[in-house]
Amino acid sequence: MTRPLPRGPAAASATPRGAGPERANPEGANPEGASPEGASPEGAGPEGAPPRGTAHENASPAGPGPGDADVVAGIAGEITPEGADALAAIAKNPGRALIALDFDGTLAPIVSEPSAARPLPGALSALRRLAPAIGTLAIITGRPARVAVELGRFAGIPGLIVIGHHGWERWEGGELTSPPPPPEVEQARARLPGVLAAAGAADGTWVEDKSHALVVHTRQTADPEAALALLAGPLADLAGQTGLDCKPGRLVIELRPRGVDKGTAITALAAERDPAAVLFAGDDLGDIPAFEAVHALRATGRAGVAVCSASGEVTALAGHADLVVDGPAGVTALLVRLADAVRPSPAH
Ligand SMILES: [Mg+2]
Repeated sequence: MTRPLPRGPAAASATPRGAGPERANPEGANPEGASPEGASPEGAGPEGAPPRGTAHENASPAGPGPGDADVVAGIAGEITPEGADALAAIAKNPGRALIALDFDGTLAPIVSEPSAARPLPGALSALRRLAPAIGTLAIITGRPARVAVELGRFAGIPGLIVIGHHGWERWEGGELTSPPPPPEVEQARARLPGVLAAAGAADGTWVEDKSHALVVHTRQTADPEAALALLAGPLADLAGQTGLDCKPGRLVIELRPRGVDKGTAITALAAERDPAAVLFAGDDLGDIPAFEAVHALRATGRAGVAVCSASGEVTALAGHADLVVDGPAGVTALLVRLADAVRPSPAH
């Protein structure tokens, strides 16, 4: 019934604004990833990001409804006028909103052992408060959907949709739709140990097998940046030879099927749910297609806001965003503001 999703308007998306050269982890390793250097306490964008007004300055003058002026004015950090309009639209009409969130680095701080990742408690409680009011609430992650549901303790959140493997899988109402992994992944899986050995992969390099994708991690090596750089060429070659994409991330390189990314995922969700306003928040290079999809959706008459969960490891993302917040804590603060603004019905 689902997946892979067709490539949608994200492929011809809005122009990135003020982005510098994309590079993973330019600031050096940050093993915990929770308090990134370089992200200001106020969540302002890094150098190179386009100028933004304050959230208050950019609040739409066109007749804010109950709660929406509050939510915009209450956001710490700078925001584009389009982003401010989208937050106001979400607060004004939450039933026609789509809120989609990445998991690692956005709801959950980055940790050395992926199975230890957990959402910040405040984020989880804010999602529970938002769920009854928001038309579509979704997690879009590179993890297997069921793993994200378990780590996030999302099963008790009514109506929540969890899109896994960047769009291959969908969990909703306790049911998982998951097509088998494409054969290209099996071919790469068989060859990957030999490729790593031949490249002289550093001690501590390890492979996370996500069934639909293979992720090589270097965070646990003595020099994670150098260890990752050493493998970039050989892994790109392996991806090319097996017909996979080779995608860098936060001290990782992921080999995964082509043609499916978070941009196609959010575009398909928007086509299905027809929201009037869309919010997506993410922290890594793999979230850029979703940011671009949000901007493309604006061209179709919807309001949209792309939120960067800032870290010292990935600075290329901020230039694509309408709002830059300080990591998972900043995302949590935003979700709390939205939950306060939308005022779920007393029945919940
Ligand atoms: Mg992430």
